[in-house]
Amino acid sequence: MVLIIKYNSIFVNDIQNELVMAHFPSSAYKNDTICAIATPPGSGAVAILRLSGKDSLSSALKLFEAAASPVTPENIRSHHLYFGKVVFKGEVVDEVLLSYFKAPHSYTAEDVIEISCHGSEFIQQKLIEIFLQLGIRFAEPGEFTMRAFLNGRLDLSQAEGVADLIASQSVTAHRLAMNQMRGGFSTKINELREKLVGFAALIELELDFSEEDVEFANRSQFSKLIREIESELTLLIDSFKVGNVIRKGIPVAIIGKPNAGKSTLLNAILNEEKAIVSEIPGTTRDAIEDTIVIGGYNFRFIDTAGLRATEETIETMGIEKTYDKINEASLILYTCDISETDDQAIEEILEEFKHYIEDENKHFILVGNKIDMLSEIPPHLKEILNLETIFVSAKRKENIHLLAETLVARVKKESISNDVIVSNSRHYEALQLALEAIEAVERAFENNLPTDLIAIDIRQALHNLGTITGEVTTNEVLDTIFSKFCIGK
Ligand code: GDP
Repeated sequence: MVLIIKYNSIFVNDIQNELVMAHFPSSAYKNDTICAIATPPGSGAVAILRLSGKDSLSSALKLFEAAASPVTPENIRSHHLYFGKVVFKGEVVDEVLLSYFKAPHSYTAEDVIEISCHGSEFIQQKLIEIFLQLGIRFAEPGEFTMRAFLNGRLDLSQAEGVADLIASQSVTAHRLAMNQMRGGFSTKINELREKLVGFAALIELELDFSEEDVEFANRSQFSKLIREIESELTLLIDSFKVGNVIRKGIPVAIIGKPNAGKSTLLNAILNEEKAIVSEIPGTTRDAIEDTIVIGGYNFRFIDTAGLRATEETIETMGIEKTYDKINEASLILYTCDISETDDQAIEEILEEFKHYIEDENKHFILVGNKIDMLSEIPPHLKEILNLETIFVSAKRKENIHLLAETLVARVKKESISNDVIVSNSRHYEALQLALEAIEAVERAFENNLPTDLIAIDIRQALHNLGTITGEVTTNEVLDTIFSKFCIGK
């Protein structure tokens, strides 16, 4: 039991304390109060200035004159709104709403003040200047969230969830970030870690009694646990593919022969002139990508070089890239010019892309373009197209909504479950390292290696899992994570 404590609290907390101190010299951290505008830069109807630290309340009350009865440090109530004025050197700066979040019941777990002012840039700037004059420091990027982490309000993966939540633009990305911020992912990692810690303690105990050749850890139970952890880690690692798709957008490749209207189709979908549209076949040499949110889902469209036999090197390279993009995509829109495509050509297309059509992980949609050039769609064409087909006119933007609806319906069908999904590449790498260490433990057991060697791999696995939630971390990691936040977050 003693050793569990060594792993769980003393060992880990010692490292964390050292890091906290290294990151924030003891004089700077906790003793200083920070401020920043928490709303986006620029003017808006309102802006929010946030203060965090022990002087938040006293400095705010130096400036604040409540409209009703005077507010003092003694009578102010936490989590209440007060209406009044900010007055500095006899001059009214603005009429504001002030709220106080008493430590530890605030975002940072410190005393926090929020002042909602009018959103002019001048007022925002003025308020910041006044607080700086009162000795408050301007916050570093992500410092509010970093304080929340250092004060134990959030773990590292939850803090990263906050950043993702702020950046999320689609339903799925939002759901994923929300889950991460609320700790779904951390819980999973902690469960794995705790399981391992228990056994690690027994193994370490054996090391202490190594002279006496005792076995405290039941080997068969331990092997079972290792296999269990291995399969859970593998599941998490595999989920990164889904997580990545959610973050970057569902990849949709637009392919087809030159001049089929791929670039025009992409423009019609994106509603802007992104791709080069030209009458000379083969002008889209490179893949053009753009993301757009349709029906709450983030799609990443990839317009590709036309597929045709060519002698030209640059174009050949483009075509090779097209095949790479097809492999990457989960949805493929094969675009053809139906005013020129006859039955035989359609059959050839279906034959050429047979393996994509039959691939369960991909969805192949045939887009019959240029319907404006025909008075009606030839009935026989419909017959041979025993495949999901949408007829459009990319140029006249006709039926593009049908295509959009089909894409959304398709994604909804495969919508992600509530399982924990890894979407962060830092977590993905740490999980892979943890898996490697666990596999090494398994091999060591199989080969009856000495306990001290097994202990090293177990410690490594614990370390890697700990880096995800921030129980074990370094200044560099913290800096990288929090510097991606904006000021005020
Ligand atoms: P890509 O080579 O497949 O990317 O084809 P483009 O988008 O560059 O289009 C080739 C030509 O077909 C251009 O002249 C477009 O204006 C034209 N085009 C594209 N879509 C349509 C359409 O729906 N109807 C008609 N009539 N012409 C189109």
